[in-house]
Amino acid sequence: MTSSTTDFAITRNESPKTEAERAEILANPGFGVHFTDHMATVEFTEEQGWHSPRVEPYGPLQLDPAACVLHYAQEIFEGMKAYRHADGSVWTFRPEKNAARMRRSAERLALPQVPEDVFLEAIKELVKIDEVWVPDASTGEASLYLRPFEIATEAFLGVRPAKEARYCVIASPAGPYFPSGVKPVDIWVSRNYHRAAFGGTGFAKCGGNYAGSMAAQVEAAEHGCAQVMFLDDREEKWVEELGGMNLFFAFSDGRIVTPPTGGTILEGVTRMSLVELARDAGHEVEERPISIDEVKAGIEDGSLTEVFACGTAAVITPVGSFKDGDDVWTVGGEGRSEELEESYPVTMKLRTTLTDLQYGRAEDTKGWLV
Ligand code: PMP
Repeated sequence: MTSSTTDFAITRNESPKTEAERAEILANPGFGVHFTDHMATVEFTEEQGWHSPRVEPYGPLQLDPAACVLHYAQEIFEGMKAYRHADGSVWTFRPEKNAARMRRSAERLALPQVPEDVFLEAIKELVKIDEVWVPDASTGEASLYLRPFEIATEAFLGVRPAKEARYCVIASPAGPYFPSGVKPVDIWVSRNYHRAAFGGTGFAKCGGNYAGSMAAQVEAAEHGCAQVMFLDDREEKWVEELGGMNLFFAFSDGRIVTPPTGGTILEGVTRMSLVELARDAGHEVEERPISIDEVKAGIEDGSLTEVFACGTAAVITPVGSFKDGDDVWTVGGEGRSEELEESYPVTMKLRTTLTDLQYGRAEDTKGWLV
């Protein structure tokens, strides 16, 4: 037993991946397929609160088949990255924002909230012991993706909040999201499915939101689109977000609009950072509802010049077109330049500003790196 919840007991993996195996993985890590040698875990019980913090070899979890998470999906997670700078140092980006979002998710899913110091210390300990897994800065936008998650472990089939839970962090090396350069993505406008409802769990990062979005993703793929855009569930009129990214709309007069996170939209850390960086760059940023009709009209009359999606995984992705049934609206028109610096200048400038900060190529004047 350790004395404090942030005093992690360390058990080293006696048979970690060899240097050669690791080098092979890091040369082509993909996304979310390879995992590091260790994981961090902290347990919760009503009697003891958060306890038994530890870092141990990565491996399967032992769960009772009646564990609540397996039946009622009482589960939440986070997604963030560790970046290696040119001097070899390793940094995370605004991790306290992920800690806070996870507490909000926990409250919504009636799970015990992981205290910020426990959340952060687990990440720090794991990144420290698996530091060799953080890709080199010279490999472009590669990073170590961190996946904190919390599950209800109590073995009980009654429907009520579980009294036992577990917080874990695993890590997975991630290659550049766009290995052959940033490419605009085509978006399917979901008319048959919603991601979130008012009063629902849209703002929480819980597994159920993603389970419910898969059918829409299948529908999108059937129509040749890589991502889905969801509309609000009441009026089926207001743009919400993609299945895993927030949306921004840039107008020719310099205004940038992003839908407000009023309970149905995930409060992206990338989103909140870009709102600030865009304002710093002189843009007027409006967090206000934007309708699908305004988007369509803006693309048609040329006043809406750029659309982009953002999130931890891809940073910023330009949106190339929207497909709404048989209608296709191409952002920037059919004749837009293949050179993204010309056709998506605002998008690409913001992308560079943010990635330069994350990878230590620009001074961290905001104190966002930890
Ligand atoms: N929306 C959804 C539904 C997401 O899953 C994500 C990814 N976490 C985002 C937006 C972007 O959030 P962040 O910038 O914190 O990665």
